Amino acid sequence: MSRVVSVAVPVPALDLLSYAVPEDLPLPQIGARVLVPLGTRVVTGCVVRQTADPAVTRLKPLVDVLDPEPMLPAEVVDLALWVSEYYACGPGEAIAAAMPPRAWVVSEPQARITDAGRAALGEQPGASRRTVLELLVDGTARPVAQLGRLVAARRGRSRRGAGGLHALLGAMARDGLVTLAQPLRGTASAFKSIRVARLTAHGRALLEDGTSLGVRQREALELLQGTPAGVTVPALTRRGIPGETVRRLVACGGLTVSREVIERDPWSTETLATTDTQSGSDRVLTAEQQTAVDALTEAAGSGRFTVALLHGVTGSGKTEVYRRLAKVTLASKRQALILVPEIALTPAVVTSFRQAFGARVAVQHSGLSDGARHDQWHRIRRGEVDVVVGTRSAVFAPLPSVGLIAVDEEHDASYKQEESPRYHARDVAIMRAKRNGALVVLGSATPSLESYRHAASGRYRRLTLSQRVKCRPLPTVRIVDMREEFAAHGPDVVISRPLAEAIDARLTRREQVLVLLNRRGFAAAVFCRECGRTLECPNCSVSLTFHRSAGQARCHYCGYARARPVSCPECAGPYLEQIGFGTERVEAEIVGRWPDARVARLDRDTVRRKGAAARLLERFASGAVDVLVGTQMVAKGHDFPRVTLVGVISADVGLGVADFRAGERTFQLLTQVAGRAGRGEVPGEAFVQTLYPDHYSIRYACSQAYGPFYDEEMRFRRAMRYPPVVSLVSAVVRGTSFTQTMQEAGDLVAWLRRRPSRFRVLGPAPAPLGRLRGQYRAQLLLKGQHRREMREALLAALDGRAELKRRVVIDVDPMWML
Ligand code: ADP
Ligand code: ZN
Repeated sequence: MSRVVSVAVPVPALDLLSYAVPEDLPLPQIGARVLVPLGTRVVTGCVVRQTADPAVTRLKPLVDVLDPEPMLPAEVVDLALWVSEYYACGPGEAIAAAMPPRAWVVSEPQARITDAGRAALGEQPGASRRTVLELLVDGTARPVAQLGRLVAARRGRSRRGAGGLHALLGAMARDGLVTLAQPLRGTASAFKSIRVARLTAHGRALLEDGTSLGVRQREALELLQGTPAGVTVPALTRRGIPGETVRRLVACGGLTVSREVIERDPWSTETLATTDTQSGSDRVLTAEQQTAVDALTEAAGSGRFTVALLHGVTGSGKTEVYRRLAKVTLASKRQALILVPEIALTPAVVTSFRQAFGARVAVQHSGLSDGARHDQWHRIRRGEVDVVVGTRSAVFAPLPSVGLIAVDEEHDASYKQEESPRYHARDVAIMRAKRNGALVVLGSATPSLESYRHAASGRYRRLTLSQRVKCRPLPTVRIVDMREEFAAHGPDVVISRPLAEAIDARLTRREQVLVLLNRRGFAAAVFCRECGRTLECPNCSVSLTFHRSAGQARCHYCGYARARPVSCPECAGPYLEQIGFGTERVEAEIVGRWPDARVARLDRDTVRRKGAAARLLERFASGAVDVLVGTQMVAKGHDFPRVTLVGVISADVGLGVADFRAGERTFQLLTQVAGRAGRGEVPGEAFVQTLYPDHYSIRYACSQAYGPFYDEEMRFRRAMRYPPVVSLVSAVVRGTSFTQTMQEAGDLVAWLRRRPSRFRVLGPAPAPLGRLRGQYRAQLLLKGQHRREMREALLAALDGRAELKRRVVIDVDPMWML
């Protein structure tokens, strides 16, 4: 009976692979990392299944077992396998999403010549052997793959495949002409360790005796004598004691140097700005908060799978509800997972949990350095943590027994990963809770239609917080009809009269203002008045945005940038004009109009560097900034009590997008940003500038009427058969030829239509973003009630067409139709 394991390897679209476990290796457990041969490489994989299959023969053996104990808990391995099935991606890609940073080590076999090999060169070896030996004669170790290319180049043709070269090298190694080694790139352990020097008894004796010591050696020993806990080697170096001295002293036994693991501190890179001074435990809940907590207390402690939608208006205190429920969960010896869209933008949530649970809180998000994230991950894995606050990928956090998962701002699109595995963390959270018997709380002021529909049908429990805390009123929202503004003051108006007056008043009263425009840059496009063409990205089918401070026209999809031309690249016409505007222009307008105001801008251009967003928000929170202009980043769950005015420069930016969720996103963004106003003592006000004051998304956002919006939006989805009424699976064929991608997408459509099925197939059509990063994109859409059937049909259509499959992006429950 041979011992066999199924291994997930992080290679796109690759199935599970089976390997034999050699006699001299322990049988690796599920969740343990192993090194396995894959083609000419050796890669890290993760064991997902153990089998003892007598029928299996001739399997390749494992190279090594990296973890005696599982790296991933078996439960997380199972969850990842579910993700790979549901989202139709390779199991290794899903496992990789659950792994901490630095878990993968790779290694490539390398060949090096021996003395016998050098000698053999003089003895007329065969032609192939001679070629290899000549390539290695300089003594460097060469990766086998590189050697293969060099051999092929020498011979002018690639007669010998990789397999042939491997056999040849194997034979040469047996004859002692070369050595083959597999050095690891990366290390199996990525803990940060530091070398610490300590004085030994012998060292103390040396000091007392003193005669045989050099100056530096004496200094080192004296230093260590005064510091019994030890001094790190880098610290010794900083004090002028060279490594050589340390080595000598170690050699003579005067001191020892040992490696010690230290933890990288995630809090040091984080500004934990908060305006919340009450510690929370002494705080009296509002009646509605209390009702919600009471309703869910049983589920939070019981271990019965429950999903609840916490529909609470902005400023109703949803975080406090999660926190109370987390207490209940912890009391029953289970852990809580709090998911947030973007930690950098809402540090207050972390702070709130740190206040309540102290050091037993860990954070997991991409803003941390890999090292800090790795260390935090292992704290969770070791069971040292009761609460994890994190972004999307934290849904895989290796907690031993999750009892509560809160998904804050559950409607937020950033929960969906836009690269493989294309999972939605909210939906993975629900699946994880189901498997563990846990409570999921989905919180939002503007729930996704998907979640609200389940709450309305009774599948999820619905809890409502209709009032803000401390009886604070919701902001008053006024619509500014820009058609009238343009008629009265011309088409160049950025800030309307009513909004300008409101800003004036706030600046006089020393209150704060948030200004939203969901488009970055200075001008939306540059166009030629002579030939009418706009400046386009050479790689993508979009126009370039003008960024004034950089003097560049940039593509927001692929990053292409060029200096703004002085004349039209098409017709050489000299009259280039800018049309539309972005946050950079709004900032300039405000600075020009209120030169004394302190103005800052928050968008992806101003906060590229790690920690920059948190620092900027902290400046705003501290009152060092009067007006903060930005993209949707300013609308996230911030809680700034001194903001009493929110201005929306154009509510229409997202409405023109060819996406059935355009109306929903506009409603959510406007409701959320308006909700940033009036969260303190002074009531808030918002001004929404629009050319479509009658659009239902805008009207209902302004009256903050979720129910009527939901009804109207659902009517549209039902009529057009869009989610949540049906499920969608999208497939985009990418390629360098437009005709070919359309043809291939058409073939897939035809194939799918020939088979009986319960779903509809739409397409092929050029995707709304018809070209991206130099590749054409042809799209087909599957619409139906049964995701499994659609997914399997699509995979069946691609079966046996590996090359095409690599160019097809399958997106189950897509968030964007682009
Ligand atoms: P939401 O996420 O619902 O918009 P938050 O959770 O940010 O609201 O809470 C808004 C503010 O109200 C925060 O400053 C929070 O500390 C405070 N808060 C929450 N609950 C209470 C309460 N029961 N009494 C007083 N203040 C509260
Ligand atoms: Zn581009």
